[in-house]
Order: sequence, then C-alpha cells, then structure tokens
Amino acid sequence: MAGEPQADCLFCKIVAGEVPATVVRETEHVVAFRDINPQAPTHVLVIPKAHYPDAASLAAAAPELAAAVLAEAGQVAADESAEAYRIVFNTGSGAGQTVFHAHAHLLAGRGLAWPPG
Ligand code: AMP
Ligand code: ZN
Repeated sequence: MAGEPQADCLFCKIVAGEVPATVVRETEHVVAFRDINPQAPTHVLVIPKAHYPDAASLAAAAPELAAAVLAEAGQVAADESAEAYRIVFNTGSGAGQTVFHAHAHLLAGRGLAWPPG
C-alpha cells in the first residue's frame, strides 16, 4: 500500500532507527540526515517518513508531504547558512537514483555548475 514501510528499503530502516544516520532535522512526517558520501560541504538528504519510490509518485499521492520535504530542504539550507544551494531528485537508475525511497538532495557550500552532469 502506498506510503507503507518497505522491509527492503534502506531509508525506511533509517526512519525506523534500524540503520544509524546523522539526523539534522526531524518533524512528524519528514527527516533530514547527512549523506554518507557527500558530494558538497553540505549534502543532506530530506525524506518523507512514509515510503514512496520517487519524488513524482510522492507528489501525486501526498502533495502536502511533498511540499513538506521541500520546505524542510529550505530549512536545512537556512540552518547551514547556505547562500545558494541546489535541490535534486534523481529519478530512475539512468539518472543516478540508487535508493527507491523519495529523497531530496540538498547540496551547498561550493560552486554548483549549471547545467549539472
Ligand atoms: P540517489 O543515488 O539519488 O538514490 O541517492 C542516494 C543517496 O543515499 C546517495 O547519495 C548515497 O550516498 C546515500 N546513502 C546511501 N546509504 C546511506 C546511508 N546509510 N546514510 C546516508 N546516506 C546514504
Ligand atoms: Zn522506504
């Protein structure tokens, strides 16, 4: 069922506290934690606690939750005093998605080239 925890999902395990993470922000519905392989001085993942496989399916099923993820990403940027930042949702393995639980990458703290690779 949409939104239910998935037994084989790494980020559901982080939500459940079964896998450790460096949490920087947490609300009732959203958690933000540092990426284990940071690609910038600030690299935080912002996820809904509920499981959706990607950003678009999250937005379609639970638009308020998708908005909460974006709002929390903005709060992380503010907490880190980021003047400029990028929010990325890799979608599909061809775009680099490796964890199929919707997550925003919040990247900041270095120059961010455009267009991205
Ligand atoms: P993506 O490739 O867009 O699906 O992003 C998944 C991200 O999760 C990658 O940037 C990984 O470095 C990150 N990651 C994988 N395992 C962990 C973990 N245990 N804690 C924090 N971040 C992780
Ligand atoms: Zn999950």
